Amino acid sequence: MYDLVLKGGKICTAHDSYFADIGVVDGKIIEITNCIDFSNAREVVDAAGLLVLPGVWHTHCHFRDPGVTNKEDFESGSKLAAAGGITFVIDMTNNEPAPATVETFLDKKKNAESKSHVDFGLYGAGLHPDQVKSLFDLGAIGIKVFNTRHPKDVYPYISTLGVVDHGVLYEIFEETAKTGLVCAVHHDDSDWVKRMVYRDYIDKGNINAAAYVDAFAKGYMYGHGMVSGLASSLYLAKIAGVRLYVLHVGVMPDGAYDLIDFAKSSGQPVYAELEACSFLIDRAMAEKLGPRTYVHGRNIPRARDALNNGPCDVLVLEHAPHHKDEVAKGWDDNFGAPLGVIGAQEFFPMMLNEVNNGTLTLERLIYLTSENPSKIFGIYPRKGIIAVGSDADFTIVDMNREHVLSSEESLSRSGWTSFDGVKVKGMPVFTVVRGNVVMEKGVVKGARGFGKMISPKKQ
Ligand SMILES: [Zn+2]
Repeated sequence: MYDLVLKGGKICTAHDSYFADIGVVDGKIIEITNCIDFSNAREVVDAAGLLVLPGVWHTHCHFRDPGVTNKEDFESGSKLAAAGGITFVIDMTNNEPAPATVETFLDKKKNAESKSHVDFGLYGAGLHPDQVKSLFDLGAIGIKVFNTRHPKDVYPYISTLGVVDHGVLYEIFEETAKTGLVCAVHHDDSDWVKRMVYRDYIDKGNINAAAYVDAFAKGYMYGHGMVSGLASSLYLAKIAGVRLYVLHVGVMPDGAYDLIDFAKSSGQPVYAELEACSFLIDRAMAEKLGPRTYVHGRNIPRARDALNNGPCDVLVLEHAPHHKDEVAKGWDDNFGAPLGVIGAQEFFPMMLNEVNNGTLTLERLIYLTSENPSKIFGIYPRKGIIAVGSDADFTIVDMNREHVLSSEESLSRSGWTSFDGVKVKGMPVFTVVRGNVVMEKGVVKGARGFGKMISPKKQ
């Protein structure tokens, strides 16, 4: 007796593809074979003509919960993830209270578990070196550090979350190294950024959305300062022996790719999380989007090269929602408005479209969004693979289905997406988490609170 049978689909992994049926019991894959007798299965999904992929991860979701749940909460965020074919999310902390202590981490876990439609991992906020071990013991998937402070203090959204003191950063590295977790860092050189941005833009009154795009293109906003911070951090991480997970690769200028390549070539355990905006949004599109993006591709051919040949270990499309009215202020003052991109629901359809366009292979996409993140975060082979004994997480896609992405269809509580009006070919049509169909043809049907926090295997 099966709980679920996937019938007649083509199974695609990061390494091969073949036709087979899949039988699921108690949330686990128990059989992969040519022809399963599904007459007494509780549920059957007809996957004929569809591709069955291991469940897709999204490792960069700011679900704003707890804190500013008018922008997003774990329920709306996990629903839009399910709608977009995502079975596993990692929430990025950037709200009050940050999960930096035992109490706040446990509160966050309890809250997320009561609301989530998909499985998830939670970063512990890297703020206090002496809390790192406790966060690891509670099951944090990694430690996240904001090594940044915005020139006008609007980011991180709780200014106390910024760790700009490299001594403290180093001590967080030392403690994280003892746990084997990754330390995920948003790098910066905040004093340099502040001086340049005030000198050339803010002090001259050039602060509207067009001035911001210019400051970004020049490498002042989210640019050279981040590379400078990365250079220092790579060295400190090396001597601390920590596994460094570099956020916002592709947002940073080309120097970041060079530094990561160099560190990798010397055998340092460093991972690059590539931001898909680096090849999806060009400068003309950024000028049109104004404050609905904070980033555009600085060097799109180089970003595409990183996507296909490295350095790129995990692929994401930032999900950092803000309320429409707050964002609208950015047209006049984009150095004082909260910045982000909304894209978790649109991420996988846009990547399937890339596969259809021939700019990315399906195998590479699966590697970067399922197999490799599962390995990096210590959850493989429980997830990230289609194999007997693994969690029955699947993203089932129709490569021929055409769709126009829109703000109307966005399930984000903020009510908009940066990719309104973008046409794609290739859509997820079923999302399955531990044997439960949580999305069918765009309709989210799972239950609130079904999703579980998953922790790395302890060594
Ligand atoms: Zn972010």
